[in-house]
Amino acid sequence: MIKQRKSKKSYFNLDLALFHLYQQNSFNGTDLPAKTLCLTFDDGPGSHTLAIARFLFEHHIQATFFVVGKYAFYHPEILKELKEMGHLIGNHTYEHPDLPYYVSVNGDIIDQVLRTDAVIKPFVDSDRVYFRAPYGKWSAEVAQELNQSILTASHIGPVYWEIAGIDCYYWQNNWPVKDAADRYLSDIEHNEQRGIVVFHDEIADMDVVKPHNKTLDLLKILIPQLLGQGYEFVRLDEIVPIKTASLQEPKFTLRIGKEKYVCLNNKTDLFANGKPGNPHNLFTLKDLGYGKFAFRAANNFYLSSAENEIKAKHFEINETEKFDIIPVDKNSIMLRCYDGSYLTLEKGKLTRNAPFMRQAAIFSYANHNFTINNNISRKQKLLLFKKQLLFIKSKLQQKLNF
Ligand SMILES: [Zn+2]
Repeated sequence: MIKQRKSKKSYFNLDLALFHLYQQNSFNGTDLPAKTLCLTFDDGPGSHTLAIARFLFEHHIQATFFVVGKYAFYHPEILKELKEMGHLIGNHTYEHPDLPYYVSVNGDIIDQVLRTDAVIKPFVDSDRVYFRAPYGKWSAEVAQELNQSILTASHIGPVYWEIAGIDCYYWQNNWPVKDAADRYLSDIEHNEQRGIVVFHDEIADMDVVKPHNKTLDLLKILIPQLLGQGYEFVRLDEIVPIKTASLQEPKFTLRIGKEKYVCLNNKTDLFANGKPGNPHNLFTLKDLGYGKFAFRAANNFYLSSAENEIKAKHFEINETEKFDIIPVDKNSIMLRCYDGSYLTLEKGKLTRNAPFMRQAAIFSYANHNFTINNNISRKQKLLLFKKQLLFIKSKLQQKLNF
């Protein structure tokens, strides 16, 4: 077993938990009304996924499947059917690493997220992708790293839980399905009868446990009982803070050289002369699929390459408002227009006068979605402390959650 790196910036630290919850919006189901549950399934897709999904569909329950990219890659047909049944598909990384440790040994976590996106995006309806960290393990360093890439800006997460995924622990020990169902029922009861529930349609790390997965049998006991007790089930995107976050578009700045921000001047023109902190430096990103993106400027119009000079003057997105993002390193990019030319700078103005990549401007990207809220009330502090205790409790139970 790999020893967890010890550092002063441990995620057990309360200050970082504040950072974690405010800076990165760790989502949970504590706002759900009583007798309301949101079902989530981790680590698939696998041989049990569709049977589970169909069982839920027959009971009019729409769940979220946080899939592991390396499994999803081989099973697009499962993802397709999940989508057709109205279930959501979320990103659970490509190889299911322990992200805080992985980032500490220079593991490429952006790559873990993007490779999974490449597999799941055709089956994700929204332009936002829900993300859950393997084992729920998270740290300020992980958040900071993922915030550096424009290509992960459309993610919403990490999505945490109230009722932990202890099912696999029962299958590992060959304990009865009935006991697992009782444990879920009692955990739901102890969580004020509401919250996000984790199950495992597959088990990512331990092939030896996979054949013993009885989560479908567990659901066949649990779901009729919960329905009989009057429980209702909501999809992840119906949870209010998640819904609200989905409506907020990712905001960012593009910088060229030192402190020269791409800035909207006059009405529709773009210059690279913005000073830091100018609201006219801010852009929002729209992921159009097929690797195309649109950028909306502070005047609410989209950047357009219809003319030689790039202007923010179109309200609708047509071919000339679509751009390719070409990453250079984790936080810098080049932008290519519909006609194959690249964005560049001419006399401080943004133009598309770069037919070859070697002439393209390299823009530094900075995420502006997450602002630290230092002025939190005593009540909020207490709530955060309570959440932190639950967080620590879940860490202590980590061995139970795969
Ligand atoms: Zn997992």
